[in-house]
Amino acid sequence: MSQTVSTAFEPSTPVQFLTGVGPARARLFEKLGIVTLEHLVRHYPRTYLDARTFVKVRDLSGDRVLTVLGRVTSAAAHRTRGGRTDFTARISDETGHVTCHFFGQPWLSRAIAPGASVVVSGTVDPLGRMLNPMFEVLESEVEELLHAGRLVPVHALTRGITGRGMRVAVRRALDRVADRVVDPLPPDASRGMESLAVALRHIHFPDDESERDRARERLAFEELFLLQTVLEMRRRVFAEEGRGLATAGPGALAAAARQALPFALTADQEKALQEIVADLARPRPMHRLLVGDVGSGKTVVGLLAALHVIESGHQAAFMAPTEILARQHVLTLTRFARPAGVDVVALTGASSPAERRAIQARLAAGEPLLVVGTHALLEAKVQMPKLGLAIVDEQHRFGVRQRATLAKKSAIPDVLVLSATPIPRTLALAMYGDLDMSAMRAKPPGRGRIVTRVAGEEKFPQVIEFMAQELAAGRQAYVVLPVIEEGGRIDAKAAAAEHERLSQHPLLSRFQVGLLHGRLKADEKQRTMDAFVANRIQVLVTTTVIEVGVDVSNATLMVIENAERFGLSQLHQLRGRIGRGSHRSVCVLVPGAATSGEAQQRLEELTATDDGFVLAEADLAMRGPGELWGMRQSGLPRLKLADLRDERLLTRAHEAARKTVASDARLLDPAHRPLREALLRDYREALELALAG
Ligand code: ADP
Ligand code: MG
Repeated sequence: MSQTVSTAFEPSTPVQFLTGVGPARARLFEKLGIVTLEHLVRHYPRTYLDARTFVKVRDLSGDRVLTVLGRVTSAAAHRTRGGRTDFTARISDETGHVTCHFFGQPWLSRAIAPGASVVVSGTVDPLGRMLNPMFEVLESEVEELLHAGRLVPVHALTRGITGRGMRVAVRRALDRVADRVVDPLPPDASRGMESLAVALRHIHFPDDESERDRARERLAFEELFLLQTVLEMRRRVFAEEGRGLATAGPGALAAAARQALPFALTADQEKALQEIVADLARPRPMHRLLVGDVGSGKTVVGLLAALHVIESGHQAAFMAPTEILARQHVLTLTRFARPAGVDVVALTGASSPAERRAIQARLAAGEPLLVVGTHALLEAKVQMPKLGLAIVDEQHRFGVRQRATLAKKSAIPDVLVLSATPIPRTLALAMYGDLDMSAMRAKPPGRGRIVTRVAGEEKFPQVIEFMAQELAAGRQAYVVLPVIEEGGRIDAKAAAAEHERLSQHPLLSRFQVGLLHGRLKADEKQRTMDAFVANRIQVLVTTTVIEVGVDVSNATLMVIENAERFGLSQLHQLRGRIGRGSHRSVCVLVPGAATSGEAQQRLEELTATDDGFVLAEADLAMRGPGELWGMRQSGLPRLKLADLRDERLLTRAHEAARKTVASDARLLDPAHRPLREALLRDYREALELALAG
């Protein structure tokens, strides 16, 4: 009977109809994002356990996973003193027997009954027992091993679905629909690779590593190809000559502002500015990343570019990731722009409704203004019909989706992204398709050195002593705590406790200690920050709200607690808050008590180099791009198998996507229909513009 039903299975069939699933378990699968059989066969294993080495019972070992084939000679469930019911089976072959002990799984007595042939994989404990081994009961000679005695796939699970249950479900789904899952790749793109059906089978149940690796390559390629196709389609729309605006004025305003600067631009700043202005002058939408290490002076370059745009009669927007930074940019930019006679207006959470209305009215009327704000500027309410340039400070919270939103505000504006985190080429390719880049490596002259030290918690008294000395010399200090919980409740508490502790500290009694964290209201944050800038507060206890861009050159000491919780790039960013004046600065990294030797080692890298480029590469190698570039915020779906560090595969996907889109820009060719459908499923939002374009 099940035979007749199985012919009706399609990739889109709900998992509920799979033998052994049903409505209740289907709800559990849904928690894992698995609704259909296709989802199930695309629920790739997280990893594999190698249980392929078969030995005799006598040769089982405690050091590595080995597998035996034997017969169950006795089996019994029994209650423990703790009230749990465990299950024990004795497995024998001609060399001896081994006792397998399963905690709290009395129902196994149904499967593992005396006389049954079983394959058991695991290690033995010092008493010679196997605890919770992987096992497979053999019902006939021909059956394929799923759970033991092979490369065993380990899938992500949820409560109520066991590894065994998942493997059986995946196996059944593969049998029903693997051959019918529609391959989104055009045949030329995947030439030389194995078929999708084979790849799906082998990714779950490979016979060996090479089978698994080929499957993984095929499926990773698919992910990268889809991503690159989207980016390529978007790039063609965005980059078309004539879709943007020519927005470079002759440069009189910028010249006036430069005259009044208290410093000369560095050679790197000059070069970056030239590249940007050349882009502004062309009617092709610019998408340029300005990378410069913390403190390299990106803000002023952005401002000068904005002045060109304003001179041409257009509007410029300067967006910061946080309120605090936005407010700070307002001050800096106003100071820089005043000599040019250009108005800088702010639209932040701290703006009153009346201010907000007034500014929105001026923007809507097309007045050529420089407006500074947070991402709230992207809201639909804010109309900027003459928006010519959007400057985005600190890229990692600004992605593909935001860029599309901007494009709806006017003709496609030029976008300049300022970043202290250099993006490796492969990643730029993966995330943006093509992206122009200007890099500033040298810092302005006359900067004090930053000395970085790692100090255990036991050294904290000395750290405070040192802090007191610095403060007595007129300097200021940051004490930074990591964000521990999304939403900030716990770190607000930890920060408050640390604030309390330092406020009470006898050595610091002459000084004011301030507290800043994400849970404060915008105006409270602002008041605290203003007080720190004005040196009414000498020590600022803070969470990572100060991570990017805050510029208080009198601050010369930064103590970062639980430093092991931060990535290297992030620590580098943080430490870039000091060393901004001519004084020597000190950054003290205090790892938590439970920090591993390896994590400690990682922190030592920061004491060795001050080069953000080097640290970003180290970070990428260590943690992968998800962390580094906030893939989640970027509006791109998660890549399950593809590794963005795989330059070879990425380049191949990029080239294949380019070819496909060049031949059929909107994917209207019937041969590209599966591709188009896959893209609409995974990337609808990102594609809106390209398909409508
Ligand atoms: P970042 O690139 O990290 O955003 P900022 O733009 O905040 O750096 O600049 C850091 C500091 O360096 C600011 O106080 C800025 O005024 C100053 N600055 C920028 N360019 C120069 C320069 N060419 N010479 C000296 N100081 C500069
Ligand atoms: Mg900055």
